[in-house]
Amino acid sequence: MKTQELNDLQTLVSLAKRRGFVFQSSEVYGGINACWDYGPLGVELKLNVKKLWWKSMTSRNDIVGIDAAILMHPKVWKASGHVDGFTDPMVDCKECKYRFRPDKVEDPSQCPSCGSKNLSEPRNFNLMFKTFMGPLEDSSSTVYLRPETAQGIFVNFENVQTSMRKKIPFGIAQIGKSFRNEITPGNFIFRTREFEQMEMQYFVKPGSDDEHMEEWKQRRRNFYLNMGFKEERLRFHQHGPDELAHYAKDAFDVEYKFPMGWEELEGIHNRTDFDLKAHQQMSGKSLEYFEEASKEKYIPYVIETAAGCDRLVLAALCDAYREEITTDEKGKEDKRVVLGFHPQLAPVKLAFLPLSKKEPLASLAMQLRNDFAAEDWICQYDESGSIGKRYRRQDEIGTPLCVTIDFDSLEDKCVTVRHRDSMQQDRVSIDGLEAYVRDKLKNF
Ligand code: ATP
Repeated sequence: MKTQELNDLQTLVSLAKRRGFVFQSSEVYGGINACWDYGPLGVELKLNVKKLWWKSMTSRNDIVGIDAAILMHPKVWKASGHVDGFTDPMVDCKECKYRFRPDKVEDPSQCPSCGSKNLSEPRNFNLMFKTFMGPLEDSSSTVYLRPETAQGIFVNFENVQTSMRKKIPFGIAQIGKSFRNEITPGNFIFRTREFEQMEMQYFVKPGSDDEHMEEWKQRRRNFYLNMGFKEERLRFHQHGPDELAHYAKDAFDVEYKFPMGWEELEGIHNRTDFDLKAHQQMSGKSLEYFEEASKEKYIPYVIETAAGCDRLVLAALCDAYREEITTDEKGKEDKRVVLGFHPQLAPVKLAFLPLSKKEPLASLAMQLRNDFAAEDWICQYDESGSIGKRYRRQDEIGTPLCVTIDFDSLEDKCVTVRHRDSMQQDRVSIDGLEAYVRDKLKNF
């Protein structure tokens, strides 16, 4: 048997549409550039990514969560530096009208689309989406769609610290939508203009920041490994002096090897006291922390872990995809497409398949489906097509276990459990099925 990994994104885009993971937004109207909708399986996969991340953060005693509003006081973005500095350079090709970011192409002196050197000067373009609050559309009512979730955490630092009586070091976690008017979005859900971020800001005593940065790097790496990501497709990239953001003392990207190459999944940044200081100055409100033990007052430093939920979903799909190709004696090839998700990520955990649509098999299978779904497992029921075809359908969406109910089940009160990866089949009693499933999904 030959195993083939994913080597082009288009294969995944087709599978994602065919199997209900991701659809193009507004497709009936011809779509809208770089906007995507999550379908029934995509939304489950994305929820699983968020649940794992949320648990990895808020199950710690030193981290709590918040959910801040997308619209914030415009001064927030002035203080944070986004109004003046959140820009990307943009160049227009005068020949073919292609627009690109010169910092993201190999040779910025020529158009990546037509090769022309007849280009505009680079212009800085602010990535924040503007809108108006209330009925008046003038500059006094301008607000922004947040370009990052972090600022919602910084401006709530004091509220959270005092209401939860947290002592430094502690962190605040948040998952939410962010918006950036990207010049060149693309690569499916990798870079879009509306996306979800999973950010955690960890407030530490100045001087202990390097040590905490190191710890968070290791924790974040372990997070991806525990999610089942292939180790050889993960690496860290440290920002050089010319890559560092205006607020950062040190920064690492967690990179993943996508079909289009190594790209950032998550940023881990030492943001120093830049943001809290800036908000203290702009608001006139003290954001100093008083340390009981040492009787010291200081503005904490911040270690931030900023991951993109949609990028993690894309990486999870790429990581899980494989084709198993077998050739029979006559040389005929058979291809099995599998999404080998870790069970915690798999959008559907169990599929219940009656061997025949006839009663009482169908009702027994549906009854089992409903009982297991009530236990918080996402389950499917499928009675159409040959059992082989039904297994293949489940393989293609990554369902770890299929439960087949056959005529013998009525007599021996047992079912057949078929495993996605090994295709091994076990006969299991219906009474013992729940314990069996629990064990198999836990010790995958
Ligand atoms: P990039 O260099 O790819 O534009 P960035 O360094 O600006 O990303 P951060 O501001 O550090 O990104 O944002 C943290 C995370 O948010 C990124 O690692 C990425 O996973 C996600 N993210 C940022 N921009 C987008 C986008 N346009 N679409 C999808 N996810 C994004």
